[in-house]
Amino acid sequence: MITRVVRVGNLTLGGSNPLRVQGMLKSSFDNTDELIQEAKCLIKAGSEIIRCALPKQEDVPYVYSALKDLDVPLVADCHFQPRIALEAIEAGFDKIRLNPGNMSEGGMKEVIALAKENDTALRFGFNSGSCKAKTGMEFAELALKLDKWVRELDFENFLISMKSSSVPQTVEANRFFSVYSDTPLHIGITATGPMYEGIIKSSAGLGALLLDGIGDTIRVSLTGDSIEEIKVACILRDIAAGVSDRLQLISCPMCSRSRIDVKTLMDEFMEKLNEEDFNRPFKVAIMGCEVNGPGEAKECDIGICGMEKGGLFIKKGEVVTSVFSDEIVDFLIGELRKL
Ligand code: SF4
Repeated sequence: MITRVVRVGNLTLGGSNPLRVQGMLKSSFDNTDELIQEAKCLIKAGSEIIRCALPKQEDVPYVYSALKDLDVPLVADCHFQPRIALEAIEAGFDKIRLNPGNMSEGGMKEVIALAKENDTALRFGFNSGSCKAKTGMEFAELALKLDKWVRELDFENFLISMKSSSVPQTVEANRFFSVYSDTPLHIGITATGPMYEGIIKSSAGLGALLLDGIGDTIRVSLTGDSIEEIKVACILRDIAAGVSDRLQLISCPMCSRSRIDVKTLMDEFMEKLNEEDFNRPFKVAIMGCEVNGPGEAKECDIGICGMEKGGLFIKKGEVVTSVFSDEIVDFLIGELRKL
């Protein structure tokens, strides 16, 4: 179902708007410079919305004044006490995330009333760790009930999320919900574990939803650096959309036919790239041999295909020259920067 449009600060979500990437701050409030720096790095990496957890009411004015000059909407993540959310609306946050699993109906009602008055967006974020649903269907039923209740209060500027640490449960809940409601969905898999598992779980769950056309905003949660979360979210968004405005790397897994050490070359190539290089919208291939190498490299802007001695350099579908193995990385970087 096409979702309705929701306004969050200067950004519109849902409807035909593109998927918006959301980042979450992890810095402690003890160091303002670090907090601002983290937010700026997230924005530079592609975050279009910044969310910040606000455990205490007294943090609200401080955090808002530290972040208010950033050019993206700010989201206050509030749990348990409605007064923190009310203070965040009054401070000027563009969106408030409430957890229906730990806030009373009366509390949420107060927040909705003030959000309506101030034109603040809300997100009702269900989490498997704090709500009673045991299956994806139960999750979706809870969310649909709340969705109806909020609309009956004559409030529409909100999103819903249903996040679980179980990929099938998250996917089932979001798929089911999206059949019955046009409320925009913020999607994510929660508590995904360490980086490696986290990236795989997020890719499986969020990839499935995105390919179904479900999701208006996305957050990848990893037990790790917040910048990595944005990088993974942007890559997932691009893969699901089949487009990219960033560098895409194609390389084969290698086998006993490999004529060049694809892994070492790719590692070295990536190590030598600067941030600007990663923002170049080109495809670069490094392939091990003539079996799939020329075909894949020809599909790319530039590519190397391993040959008996070194590699064959292919540019825009044409074989251009051959390159010695120990010159491949620098040669490819030079050619990438010429594109
Ligand atoms: Fe093996 Fe060649 Fe395929 Fe690479 S391209 S995996 S080296 S067959």
